[in-house]
Amino acid sequence: MNSVHTPAAPQDGVQPMVSFRDVRKSFGALEVLKGIDLDVMPGQVAALIGRSGSGKSTALRCINGLEKINGGELTVCGRNLRARDFELRELRKEVGIVFQSYNLFPHLTVEQNVTLAPRKVNGLDASESRALAAEVLEQVGLSDKASSYPEQLSGGQQQRVAIARSLAMRPKLMLFDEVTSALDPELTGEVLRVIGKLAAGGMTMVLVTHEMAFARQVADLVVYMHQGRVWEAGKGTMLDDPQTVELRQFVGSGL
Ligand code: ADP
Ligand code: MG
Repeated sequence: MNSVHTPAAPQDGVQPMVSFRDVRKSFGALEVLKGIDLDVMPGQVAALIGRSGSGKSTALRCINGLEKINGGELTVCGRNLRARDFELRELRKEVGIVFQSYNLFPHLTVEQNVTLAPRKVNGLDASESRALAAEVLEQVGLSDKASSYPEQLSGGQQQRVAIARSLAMRPKLMLFDEVTSALDPELTGEVLRVIGKLAAGGMTMVLVTHEMAFARQVADLVVYMHQGRVWEAGKGTMLDDPQTVELRQFVGSGL
């Protein structure tokens, strides 16, 4: 992959797009996030890595309000998620999320899948919809698939349609939760290339991934989570020289 992403230079007065301050989240008696601190600046890519159960998905889901935090402060695109003094759907217009399962509508074409939400939310007419679909399908390298149905596409292509569907809302921030984990290895690369291209184009993103080489290459900030905490965070090079036993073991385990 030939990502040429350069880290956003720190600028005075620029607010983080995502800011966790001592964020806590419990499910019943189980505390899953035990005081997370993390800033993601506009244009930055943060990669969350760590063992299964360490709280990566929960942290990601808190960002777009799918989970409610129990403590601390979480600010996303200027909104205080602790206070919840705004409409969640307004936040979700600005924050796209893509999961491992792409959940496209099987009875709709690629173009219809991609434009369903913006047509509903923004009331696009047919020609505006077509233009928007063409634009976002081009971004994911599927310009020729607008009139295909999901079952006619490979898993990698379907996942790229799911990414295009998110992009069609013109998000300020994109969240990716292990979007390649369900794919055969030979299909993983095409999806990672699309994400790498978005990163190089300046999209702010937080991604959970097991693809360590990808995390190292594309992320400005790699965040190793362990038992509900940010155990180590830094540039991708931190993976070459772990400061903790836990990260050293994690890197060594090839997970
Ligand atoms: P990861 O994505 O790093 O594998 P998760 O954030 O999915 O970790 O899960 C962290 C912990 O929280 C796990 O112990 C998981 O079982 C638990 N958990 C996640 N979601 C829920 C839920 N909705 N209800 C109860 N426990 C949950
Ligand atoms: Mg997870």
